Amino acid sequence: MKFGCHLSIKQGYLGAAKQAVAMNAAAFQYFPKNPRSLGVKDFNKEEAAQCKMFCMENDLISVSHSPYPSHLVPHDEQKREKVVDSLLNDLDIAEACGSMGVVVHFGKPLNRVDPLTSYQIMIQMLNDILQHWEGKAKLLIENNAGVPGSMGTTLEELVQVRSLCQYPEKIGFCLDTCHAFASGLWTGDNWQEVLEKGQALGYFEELQVIHLNNSKYPTRLGKDRHAPILGAGFIKEDQFDQLIKTPQLQDIPFILETPKEECPHEREIQLLQEKWGSVE
Ligand SMILES: [Zn+2]
Repeated sequence: MKFGCHLSIKQGYLGAAKQAVAMNAAAFQYFPKNPRSLGVKDFNKEEAAQCKMFCMENDLISVSHSPYPSHLVPHDEQKREKVVDSLLNDLDIAEACGSMGVVVHFGKPLNRVDPLTSYQIMIQMLNDILQHWEGKAKLLIENNAGVPGSMGTTLEELVQVRSLCQYPEKIGFCLDTCHAFASGLWTGDNWQEVLEKGQALGYFEELQVIHLNNSKYPTRLGKDRHAPILGAGFIKEDQFDQLIKTPQLQDIPFILETPKEECPHEREIQLLQEKWGSVE
């Protein structure tokens, strides 16, 4: 199993990769730039190339996470252009660092009256970004945490949006277990159903990364509050056990985005490895 966590790039991309290895992680996630802004970063290409080399030598997987304001359903033209430029910049950085892709959240609806327009804007956004992108790094669309029925909370939507885009081969998926639990996609008790549906839809073929998080709130409340995996949230250990032991997920990196003040990530990775590290 490939367990890892989100890490800071205070010491650069290479610094984050070195930290991951020091923590005995098999994978890590990072923000390519300031997570609160959409500015285009003039990054150090040499350092990014060193990160890529280091990851290859150490058999380490990396994935990038786009800044929070990277909305795929932007409210106006000015915002639209900023998001497109920013995500292309994130893809550039990810490619240079040898990362598998850039995680971006599924869009949020513009309004409640006309949901179809929001999906159309999102698909157009993906086309606008990906028509300028020829690298190997993919955009990895993450399921939302909203209450049941809100936009971006079902496997059907993820698969449909990808297939309606002009460049589906440049898009993969990221499954956040806390978001899935919050939205009722995964209630903790229906993993078999989720698995069967995902297989029927072709979801798992395109799933590239899992955000492994517990939830501080019960299922179906739409609350996105992450908790440590073991003994801390509403998702129980045997429910994680079913998910983690799924044969379709054996090669996929599991990235912790849990509150490290409650359980340091190095410790949490160690606990996960003791529990599930040898699962084949
Ligand atoms: Zn996440």
